[in-house]
Amino acid sequence: MSKITAVIQAGGLGTRMRELTQDLIPKPMLEMNGKPLLSWQIENLSRYGIEDFVLIVGHLGDKIKDYYRDGESLGVKIAYIDENEPLGSGGSLFYLRNFPSDIYLLIYGDVMFDVDISRWINFHESKNSMVTPACHPNSHPYDSDIVLTDSDSKITGFLWKKDKRDKWFPNMGNSGLFVFDKAVLDEISTPVKCDWEKDVISKLVNQGKVYSYKTTEYIKDTGTPERFEIAKKEQLDGIWEKRNLSKKQKCVFLDRDGTVNKYNGLISEPEQLVLEDGVTEAIKKLNESGYLAIVVTNQPVVARGMCNEEDVRLIHWKIETLLGQEGAYLDDIIYCPHHPDKGYPEENPLYKIVCSCRKPKIGMINTMTEKYNIDLAASYMVGDTTVDIQTGINAGTKTILLQSGEGGSDGKYDVKPDYEARNLLDAVRIILEGNGND
Ligand SMILES: [Zn+2]
Repeated sequence: MSKITAVIQAGGLGTRMRELTQDLIPKPMLEMNGKPLLSWQIENLSRYGIEDFVLIVGHLGDKIKDYYRDGESLGVKIAYIDENEPLGSGGSLFYLRNFPSDIYLLIYGDVMFDVDISRWINFHESKNSMVTPACHPNSHPYDSDIVLTDSDSKITGFLWKKDKRDKWFPNMGNSGLFVFDKAVLDEISTPVKCDWEKDVISKLVNQGKVYSYKTTEYIKDTGTPERFEIAKKEQLDGIWEKRNLSKKQKCVFLDRDGTVNKYNGLISEPEQLVLEDGVTEAIKKLNESGYLAIVVTNQPVVARGMCNEEDVRLIHWKIETLLGQEGAYLDDIIYCPHHPDKGYPEENPLYKIVCSCRKPKIGMINTMTEKYNIDLAASYMVGDTTVDIQTGINAGTKTILLQSGEGGSDGKYDVKPDYEARNLLDAVRIILEGNGND
């Protein structure tokens, strides 16, 4: 088995947190519901069998060392790197060569998380990745570094916080948690100031060696007094634990055309897409409820040769950008580009197949269920066609037929939905009020 060492960046001046620390305690030692934030981080990693820790300490670092010493009180082994001068987020990692390991987990000191570490490391290894940041859609994409990926989750570039956002972009924020291979240390050959993301990871991205691990688990920056208080409350409410992917998740699967965006025939370019009324509010409510919100959509436009998969991605980035402007986000989007009937003039024969993903088949729902450990019986399929309702029935979810879009007029299947709703916002009200939300 690979040796895994967790590295926590526990230095930093904590200027934004002075109101709470009074500059007397280092910010990772701030008390979060009965113990220091740092203890939560260590315990949430040691649960997965991680025993070796390296804490990078700076300002007021002696207080951290005096408290944790060699880690015995928490049943782990803790070593320290003293950052005597600021080396940025990357420079101090030079000293990790003194702590040999096969894999390192790097955690920013401000970030609180409850993540199924085994699932993440399995992904990292299956991709043969050098660095695998945990990434997630969130309610503040404009205030996040965004990762751009290809369809295999390989990171192709970044959109930094400061970059101009004048194009459609995916809501996929870098969360401040990273798994990386020991070979990455060869990229940090001297202990000089450097930036982990902009200097080290960017170079490896150019070599095609970095993959994004998309997760819906609890990962939050607690670096301001306000965010710290919110995280405290979310811990008490049990949200940290519930979102861990080792636990079953509830999901609202959403059809796209006529449900999320206005029905406008086949959509082959972003300009044709307009969100349905009330959709942002509806999805925001789902984001706050504990249900995942995942779009599953048939897009035969690709098979028909009206556009390619890159265009479909761009259309989805438009949806994500529009929702993100209002603080709402989709946890994932999956689509079927296929179509079974041959014989259209412009068609793309590669996609003219009988697949297992085209609704009402449940290939897409199965993929998402595996990826996010979804409890289908506790989940919903919401859409504007009988195909959507049949899909939900086939998958074993509850179903809601909308009067928006086609309003069930496709008539392809003789089905009876569990509920009917005027639009997505109405459907979300039924889900959250009518059935309770535990
Ligand atoms: Zn398909």
